[in-house]
Amino acid sequence: MRILLSNDDGYFAPGLQALAESLAQIGEVTVVAPERDRSGASNSLTLDRPLTVRKSHLGYWYVNGTPTDCVHLAVTGLIDQLPDIVVSGINHGTNMGDDTIYSGTVAAATEGFLLGIPAIAVSLASRHAGNFATAGRVARDLVSRLMGARPPGPWLLNVNVPDVPYESLAGQEVTRLGKRHKAEGVVKSKNPRGDTVYWVGPAGSAADAGPGTDFHAVAQGRVSITPLQMDLTHFEQLDALREWLAA
Ligand code: MN
Repeated sequence: MRILLSNDDGYFAPGLQALAESLAQIGEVTVVAPERDRSGASNSLTLDRPLTVRKSHLGYWYVNGTPTDCVHLAVTGLIDQLPDIVVSGINHGTNMGDDTIYSGTVAAATEGFLLGIPAIAVSLASRHAGNFATAGRVARDLVSRLMGARPPGPWLLNVNVPDVPYESLAGQEVTRLGKRHKAEGVVKSKNPRGDTVYWVGPAGSAADAGPGTDFHAVAQGRVSITPLQMDLTHFEQLDALREWLAA
């Protein structure tokens, strides 16, 4: 099995290394990852300059572009043989609910999915990130299982793993995305030259986080697995909008 691995925290990130080491036990791993932290890059492609690919001392390819660039490059010309699966992560921090819209971790997996390859995004649900090995093992088990008896696809799975030792996990749950409260406001500040600058504020807290959501599963100590799709059409509004426009 050929596994293409990427992330958004950068090629040097401990979560990426933990995932690469874990997945190397079940397949041939190729890493193509951004050269710096591109968290929040979403599905952006670099179109205004060429991209450079270099190799790290661990044999990882790193690119001066986005997570989406990395997977796009890898699948459309950088590597010789197409991967059987794209795995992204292990992100340092959750990607639940609305986070998935902004996430570079999810975006790297999405790019694989859009290019016709099954894909999984893996995030560790903690800002302190002690238990990357737990998420590495969860990802390995899931990839083994999926590639052994493939469910009808293509599929794109968003996985969030509680930051606990593997033995302390309370199982796994297939979930839907929850929703967060509106993000907090920008933080206004001055740079050393006296110019006003703004930091984008933190994400809002969980709002729609009841049973069945990713937020709820992780809060209960369970691995959350959400199947995602990319069609943004609001199907329920199609008829209403047609009628309204025709009136
Ligand atoms: Mn990140």
